[in-house]
Amino acid sequence: MKLMCKCGNIEDLKTDSKPANYEIRNCGDGTLALICKRCKEVVYLDFKNK
Ligand SMILES: [Zn+2]
Repeated sequence: MKLMCKCGNIEDLKTDSKPANYEIRNCGDGTLALICKRCKEVVYLDFKNK
């Protein structure tokens, strides 16, 4: 699964390792917020529909 921020920061997300270019926040409702370390933009990931 690839995560891409609008600033061009691309991270290949793997379940067994933490992303190097994003900071993970668990929102507690099945949603993960990933904060781009480059531009501080927040990208939301929804795991509820999996
Ligand atoms: Zn960014």
